[in-house]
Amino acid sequence: MMQGPVVIIGAGHAGFQLAASLRQNGFSERIALVNDEGHLPYQRPPLSKAYLKGTGGPDSLMFRPEKFYHDQNIDLFSDRAVSIERTARKVLLASGVSLDYGHLVLATGARNRLLDIPNAHLAGVRYLRTLDESQALRACIAPGRRVVVIGAGFIGLEFAATARAKGMEVDVIELGPRVMARAVTAEISEFFQARHSAAGIRIHLGVQVTAIESDGGKVTGVSLSDGRHIAADLIVVGVGVLPNVELAAEAGLAVASGVIVDEHLLTADPHVSAIGDCALFASPRFGGSLRLESVQNAADQARCVAARLTGDAKPYDGLPWFWSDQGPDKLQIAGLTTGYDRVVVRGDRAQAAFSAFCYRSGQLVGIESVNRAGDHMFGRRLLAAHGSITPEQAADAGFDLKAALT
Ligand SMILES: Cc1cc2nc3c(=O)[nH]c(=O)nc-3n(C[C@H](O)[C@H](O)[C@H](O)COP(=O)(O)OP(=O)(O)OC[C@H]3O[C@@H](n4cnc5c(N)ncnc54)[C@H](O)[C@@H]3O)c2cc1C
Repeated sequence: MMQGPVVIIGAGHAGFQLAASLRQNGFSERIALVNDEGHLPYQRPPLSKAYLKGTGGPDSLMFRPEKFYHDQNIDLFSDRAVSIERTARKVLLASGVSLDYGHLVLATGARNRLLDIPNAHLAGVRYLRTLDESQALRACIAPGRRVVVIGAGFIGLEFAATARAKGMEVDVIELGPRVMARAVTAEISEFFQARHSAAGIRIHLGVQVTAIESDGGKVTGVSLSDGRHIAADLIVVGVGVLPNVELAAEAGLAVASGVIVDEHLLTADPHVSAIGDCALFASPRFGGSLRLESVQNAADQARCVAARLTGDAKPYDGLPWFWSDQGPDKLQIAGLTTGYDRVVVRGDRAQAAFSAFCYRSGQLVGIESVNRAGDHMFGRRLLAAHGSITPEQAADAGFDLKAALT
């Protein structure tokens, strides 16, 4: 059992869950939760979904009201951690406050990857990761306005669908050969591409934005690598994120494409763990190192570290799952659908309700479902238990998935 206070840097999905789970598990020493966003800890997924559409105020996003932190004796610091002194086991905050720790957890998340092209700094070029950014974008959505979305990943497409539904003219520019190419199978990409196009979103694949065009500091459009120009009043950039690893690196901890941790989510320093979007963790389940960007990963890793710090240490073995709402369609992913060699479709694409079952060497590795929540829940349960069904069973509409679980 761990002795001394726990300091958590970052209060996103990972940091918040860790503080809450520690108290649920009976941890009675001090918990300091440090966050630099100037808001109570809040949920990110609605920022590109319901919140962007204009439903609810910032309070609707908060995990818990302020009273919760008071009642649970969790000390919230609205401040930025600027350095870690590992020998003395102290974290220094920008305000000058110094926090002692028995255990330190880095839950610093990730930040937007910024565009590096001419005029990218203009006010009409926006990003979507934080509450403040979503709030600002919400105010820009208006019928008839023209937006260019750079990047056809989850966030770019979620924004595009909302903007289009609100009557905006929307062009999406993607360098890759298909939408969400790094994250989903071609079957899912093709479906969403067709749905967004049918809704009136113009998707341009295999091209790059080379410059933002402007007039007197106001965005007027973009130039593309194929020589075309597209007019726009607003640019929304969704070209991925960078993990926040600098604090760890400056403290002498090993970092690569994330803060390096073992299967217990512990760094080489037995007093420092890392969880969530910032952590590059050793995965016995998948073999090798992984860094994932999802609510499931952040929350389950937090629970794993909370259990370890309260005397129940187990390697992290969470089953990855994810969702994305795009227009009327819900995409849900169970497992890791990378490195597959065979895809079997179950359900009906024409009815917008189907799943792509992904196999590697005959073993089911993941399921991507569109409007098929039952398939998704089946996948989560089966894959968590390291189970599989054959491709033939997956393709057979008469095969009873529920029965396969028992
Ligand atoms: C718009 C959007 C929509 C998304 N939709 C989905 C979805 O539908 N499904 C899904 O599974 N996932 C979704 N995600 C991803 C998911 O939100 C992230 O994976 C999750 O937030 C990761 O949690 P985290 O706590 O690791 O990091 P974060 O949420 O990034 O939180 C880290 C926090 O630490 C703070 N911080 C960093 N450095 C310091 C420091 N030095 N001092 C103090 N504070 C610091 C940061 O400002 C931030 O507030 C979405 C993300 C975005 C941006």
